[in-house]
Amino acid sequence: MISVERALELLLGATPVLPREIAPLAAASGRVLAEEVRADADVPAFEKALMDGFAVRSADLAGGARDLVVVREIPAGTDPAALPPLTTGTAARIMTGAPLPPGADAVVPVEEAAPAASDRGAVRCAAVRPGDHRAPRGADVRAGATLLAPGDFIGAAEVAVLAACGRAALRVGGRPRAAVLATGDELVPPGEAPAPGRLRNSNGPMLLALAGRAGATVADLGIAPDDPARLRAAMERGLEADLLLISGGVSMGARDFVGATLRDLGAEILFERVAIRPGKPFTAARRGRSVVCACPGNPASSYVIFQVFARAVLRRMAGHPHPGPTAVRGFLAAPARQRPGRAGYWQARAMLVDGRLTAEILPTSGSADVVACARGNALVVLPAEIGTRAAGEEVDILLLDDCLDR
Ligand code: AMP
Ligand code: MG
Repeated sequence: MISVERALELLLGATPVLPREIAPLAAASGRVLAEEVRADADVPAFEKALMDGFAVRSADLAGGARDLVVVREIPAGTDPAALPPLTTGTAARIMTGAPLPPGADAVVPVEEAAPAASDRGAVRCAAVRPGDHRAPRGADVRAGATLLAPGDFIGAAEVAVLAACGRAALRVGGRPRAAVLATGDELVPPGEAPAPGRLRNSNGPMLLALAGRAGATVADLGIAPDDPARLRAAMERGLEADLLLISGGVSMGARDFVGATLRDLGAEILFERVAIRPGKPFTAARRGRSVVCACPGNPASSYVIFQVFARAVLRRMAGHPHPGPTAVRGFLAAPARQRPGRAGYWQARAMLVDGRLTAEILPTSGSADVVACARGNALVVLPAEIGTRAAGEEVDILLLDDCLDR
């Protein structure tokens, strides 16, 4: 039995990074950037108005509010080179995002201007300071500046940066293909009523959902019975994927054939026991460029093993520089207890209490209790040597990737 840390090291050491590819911007969200992105121009590319109002020469208003003659209107999208200079005593009606004319150095917001009493073509402007409500050229981004780097995750903000830089297509990490195989003579598909002694396959759909959410394209290999020949045929198909996720058949039972079948298929076993609770019989292997994560059949075990290990495999394949799970520190809402010897990954609900990240470990009936997983949004990690932790003690908390959605 090896530690969680050692198992992650072995697993990620055996996981290849997929070849990079070119993706259109519209398909880049959720991928990992594989190139440096520099600004191709200053942003803004011209001196621009930050408010709807009047472009003015601030010196005209140095003595306080004054009437200025409105000489033109400048909508957003106007070519700055086409604008004549603003002369003393005049103002230009300007829209947010439009270029300031030469000579103007500030904008009087429309809220601080009023029609002049004296002249219908004039406006009374409140005093402004030079630079008010105006962005100089390059205020946000300087041409040539490095904005994104290889390894950056492409979220919505990165998509906006890429779009602003005119990157219609870009180099990204590969998208892993995951295949999911549930094993067990007792399993029936979710749409069927289980005969006496049988139960519905919940791990298959769960692992497909987890892998899809982690950015993989997924293939459902259905259910294989605990029969070496049929298991072997299904696993052979699964090894065409980058990651084969198996549930069940890795314990010590007389009909747990997954380990032996992996060997039979010429896979290299990386480890077969991990000091984790739940999930001890977690088995990992590789064959060629394919990685196998064979999770224990108990649903909560499969769930935890995916969260701690399989997601890291998919992230490494996709090019994340730090693929492993990262914990944050928080506080226990109530005392926690575990049998020492294996690191505990406990289903929990993390929330802010008086501004402190606090985790409440959820009651569970054991490693078959997937309902507890559905109630949680985090895992509290208690190291293997720990037996008890008091309420209020600091612990590692793994926030699950969908914790903001639930
Ligand atoms: P195993 O790891 O094959 O010994 O299975 C451990 C426990 O998990 C047994 O009670 C199985 O019935 C249950 N189990 C195995 N596979 C699944 C599955 N795909 N969905 C739900 N429960 C499962
Ligand atoms: Mg089984």
